[in-house]
Amino acid sequence: MRLAGVSFVAFQVVGITTMNPFVELWGAVLAAIAALGLLWFIVRTIQRSSREIADTPTLWVGRDYACPACARPLRQGWVLMGKGAIWAERDQRPLSPFVHIGNAMPNTISMSWRPATNLAWRCEHCELLLIDHSRLVARRRAARATGPG
Ligand SMILES: [Zn+2]
Repeated sequence: MRLAGVSFVAFQVVGITTMNPFVELWGAVLAAIAALGLLWFIVRTIQRSSREIADTPTLWVGRDYACPACARPLRQGWVLMGKGAIWAERDQRPLSPFVHIGNAMPNTISMSWRPATNLAWRCEHCELLLIDHSRLVARRRAARATGPG
């Protein structure tokens, strides 16, 4: 039933009306292929625009920050944003319900099997989070054992 509705919409878009269920089925299949193609395009675009680097201890050198609200030292860590970070200016209108991963800020989505993460700092007291999205960092298991550096 839902599938038939999708194909009807697809035919409305191309200006075809039919009651032939075989033709409607193919319309649904074509609509599904088009949707997959669009998804593939978005994923490829994100992969090409992402900057992913290896984890090295020098990443944290000179990056001890203080909380802008309470001045306590921020804790260093990693952030993984599932859908990516979608930014809107303070005076911009509210985000649409149709925002998608293609609207995410650069380097906030990892397409790697073991997701790369962003350097981040947080203040547990103020619940503030500072995220470096200049690049994504692919961390290896061994890097965790060496401890912070
Ligand atoms: Zn704070």
